[in-house]
Amino acid sequence: SKTQVGFIGLGNMGNPMAKNLLKHGYPVIATDVFPESCKELQELGAQIVDNPAEVADKADRIITMLPSSPNVRDVYTGPNGILKKVKKGSLLIDSSTIDPAVSKEMAAAAEKMGAVFMDAPVSGGVGAASSGKLTFMVGGAEEEFTAAKELLTCMGANVVYCGQVGTGQAAKICNNMLLAIGMIGTSETMNLGIRLGLDPKLLAKILNMSSGRCWSSDTYNPVPGVMEGVPSGNNYQGGFGTQLMAKDLGLAQDTATNTKTPVPLGSLAHQIYRMMCARGYANKDFSSVFQFLREEEEG
Ligand code: NAD
Repeated sequence: SKTQVGFIGLGNMGNPMAKNLLKHGYPVIATDVFPESCKELQELGAQIVDNPAEVADKADRIITMLPSSPNVRDVYTGPNGILKKVKKGSLLIDSSTIDPAVSKEMAAAAEKMGAVFMDAPVSGGVGAASSGKLTFMVGGAEEEFTAAKELLTCMGANVVYCGQVGTGQAAKICNNMLLAIGMIGTSETMNLGIRLGLDPKLLAKILNMSSGRCWSSDTYNPVPGVMEGVPSGNNYQGGFGTQLMAKDLGLAQDTATNTKTPVPLGSLAHQIYRMMCARGYANKDFSSVFQFLREEEEG
């Protein structure tokens, strides 16, 4: 039988990801700072413990899915962190989207304890997490990739090796900068079309058979009523929070500054998502930029 896999961070993404590990027959031992998040997984048979150190005490393969860099630092190197109890030879996979520099820092700290750390951020959203169709972008020692892939294929359709630790994050940050720009572009386009008298469903259909088609138009349309099973149809609840998108755009800005790379539309997208956070959109799905633009309209 398969040995226990640790899972830390059972939020919008972590919860369905951990469920897929259970489905593939891996016993799961999990924790989250918010006890309510653990309920569903516990009912499905996962063992719930109090903190990351306890997870590391029992499991030698651990996946973390946390909001941002400070949470990852805390979960790995904090007082009740994984590294307090990690077993030698453990494989630690972080699927959060964070600063690649922090991934490198965690990898160095893990190595000191005789453990291996890899960054493996994901693309795909909550729908893909539920259906096990995520894309994983993996950074770390190439000889560990096969072991990581064994677990990640339970949760994803694509598992791509990117290079040394931190390169998974680099790929993810680039993807999300394009996603943010695409979502804003789709939202302003749909809004303009509606104002010009077009039916939103028809406009989406035309875009999706034309050169303007993108993931935001055909898979995650931001206009309520155009698609079913997406956050726009559910008052922008669930999905990928505006605050998380603002965080990822901030990471893109930092890396662009460090490498002296021009990213004018990425900068503008960052500002728009930050403004949304200040206007009460922080915990709504990032496709709510459509609603935000509607509120900014002149009479
Ligand atoms: P979320 O906020 O829904 O979930 C994060 C979970 O981590 C929460 O349940 C929180 O209680 C828990 N947590 C925070 N600090 C903790 C700690 N110290 N110890 C234990 N648990 C802790 O976020 P999410 O939407 O699941 O996203 C997770 C990561 O995946 C983020 O980095 C995000 O950018 C990335 N991501 C999200 C999506 C998406 O569509 N939601 C898609 C791709 C990537």
